Amino acid sequence: MSNSRILSGYRPTGRLHLGHLWGNLRQMVELQEEGECYFFVADWHALTTEYQDPSRLSEYVEEMVLDWLAVGLDPERAVIYRQSDLPQVAELQLYLSMITPLGWLERVPTYKEQQEQLKNRDIATHGFLGYPVLQAADILIVRGERVPVGEDQLPHLELTREIVRRFNFLYGKTFEEPQAVLSPTPRIPGTDGRKMSKSYGNYVGLDDEPGVVKEKVLSMVTDPARRTRKDPGDPEKCSAFQLHKIYTPDRLDEIGGNCRTAGWGCVECKGILAERVIEDLLPFQERRRELEKKPGLVSEVLREGRRKVAPLADEVLSEVRRRMGIGRA
Ligand code: SF4
Repeated sequence: MSNSRILSGYRPTGRLHLGHLWGNLRQMVELQEEGECYFFVADWHALTTEYQDPSRLSEYVEEMVLDWLAVGLDPERAVIYRQSDLPQVAELQLYLSMITPLGWLERVPTYKEQQEQLKNRDIATHGFLGYPVLQAADILIVRGERVPVGEDQLPHLELTREIVRRFNFLYGKTFEEPQAVLSPTPRIPGTDGRKMSKSYGNYVGLDDEPGVVKEKVLSMVTDPARRTRKDPGDPEKCSAFQLHKIYTPDRLDEIGGNCRTAGWGCVECKGILAERVIEDLLPFQERRRELEKKPGLVSEVLREGRRKVAPLADEVLSEVRRRMGIGRA
């Protein structure tokens, strides 16, 4: 499907990492060629888990937009805006909340999962439970048709589709059901083997200095069967090997073979990976440094994005208000 409307948003919770880059950032860059893209900085979503300490939120917004631009998102080809600059999203979330049964939200798998994983934070809040409704509002406020997601985000998108069906049933056909665009890259493991995430502190940052990248890659968990240098391993049980598949595709046979026969140790193997990651990050880091020299760039990009998206959001919201019997004097 080409020329469709594509929507993607990121929570600004700090500098971006390899999980973002391979999860769908590169895909977003390519999608700019395929359709009408809306990329937003989800600062309200960030508050769902970070509400206790928002002191760095605006700094993170700035950092993230600079990272986006350095990776190749282009304000000339995509509308780049900040969620909180579009109050229409919050109003739409309110209307969608009215028709979303509580049970739908409670059964979203990430709800319970995140409660388990983020035990150090109190996220038993209305805002956190309701964030899939906010996501639905994000998508529907621009009539998004295609949404790049990872497999773990599919239940959220399904919830949006259910909300659309319910809305259309209650008030007449208003929205199309958005479709998922699955990331071509499988889950990116962090240094501890869990999904790479800022919250877990297991990430390799796009801005990490070569020495830091090396240190983090060398600390990655490997096949536990390789307790000593002489023990053979299974690369498929190793997090570092998952990254080798992305960064070292030309040497996979050699790497797999040396792992299975204990031909080399994990330090040597991860050293090769670290070199490739460092090399791949360098052009991004150079572009990022150039962009930092342009004061006011991020404000300008977000202002322009807001100017472009607001008329569309107004049009959607006035139709929703009309269908739900909400008048404006
Ligand atoms: S040799 Fe390489 S692929 Fe095998 S367990 Fe060690 S780091 Fe992983």
